Amino acid sequence: MFGTLIYLQPDSIQSTLRLRPYLRNVTIPAHRKALFRFLCADHYLAVEQYRTAPRRNGEKIPVDQRPCRYGDACTESEVHALFLCNGIDKLVEQRTIFMDRVKAIVPSHTPEFIRDNPILCIHFYLEHKALGPILAKFVYDIMVIFISPC
Ligand SMILES: [Zn+2]
Repeated sequence: MFGTLIYLQPDSIQSTLRLRPYLRNVTIPAHRKALFRFLCADHYLAVEQYRTAPRRNGEKIPVDQRPCRYGDACTESEVHALFLCNGIDKLVEQRTIFMDRVKAIVPSHTPEFIRDNPILCIHFYLEHKALGPILAKFVYDIMVIFISPC
C-alpha cells in the first residue's frame, strides 16, 4: 500500500539514472512540470533567485539573507515555502489540504511529522504511487503563490 521506498544512492549511477516513479505517476502535465522544476531548483523562490544575483559590490548574498517575501523567515527556501511559511492565508489553506490528503493515506504522517522530517517526506512521496501526484499538485499550488521573482 505504501509503495517501495528507494532512495538515490550516491555511489550508484544506476539509481541516479533510473526513471523516477513520479515521472510516471504524476499524470497531469502542469503538476509534473511544476514538481520537476521545483526539484531542479528552477523556480522563483528567493533561495535560488539570489544565488546567482550578486549585490552591487559583487558579493554573493548569504543564504540567510534571502528572506521570504511574506516576511516570516530569513530564507525563502523550498522547505519553508512548502511546510513552514505562514505568511499568507492561501498558502496555509493549501498546506492543510495537502496534509489532510497525506494523512488519509499514511496516518503516521501528521503535520508535525512532516514539518520535522520534510526532506524524508518529500523523498517518500516522490516514490509513492498515490502520494507523488498529491505532492505534485501541492507543489503546483504553492509555486503559483510564489510565481514571480521576489
Ligand atoms: Zn514565508
